[in-house]
Amino acid sequence: MTMNNKMPKYINADELTEYLADDCFTWRWLNDDRADEVDSVIKAIAEMPAADVVEVKHGEWVGYNFDFYCSNCNRYHTVRSNFCPHCGADMRGEQNERK
Ligand SMILES: [Zn+2]
Repeated sequence: MTMNNKMPKYINADELTEYLADDCFTWRWLNDDRADEVDSVIKAIAEMPAADVVEVKHGEWVGYNFDFYCSNCNRYHTVRSNFCPHCGADMRGEQNERK
């Protein structure tokens, strides 16, 4: 484990495995020796324990004046808050996109 203050970047291991297995197929086909290395990486990813994370719900406020509803739970709220007070969805939109 790294001991710094940087937030860990959680990724979807299934998507990475799919990418390595499928999207890298052409590259693997070009170099058969590397195919074994890619398979080792896929195996290592499968063996890593899953991190304890909660999936973040995203939504947006739909409506105008004091009559907004959450696109995630469809419940009403009077202000465009950063998070839906009903379902907890993150309403910050593009500000919240992470790379
Ligand atoms: Zn909501």
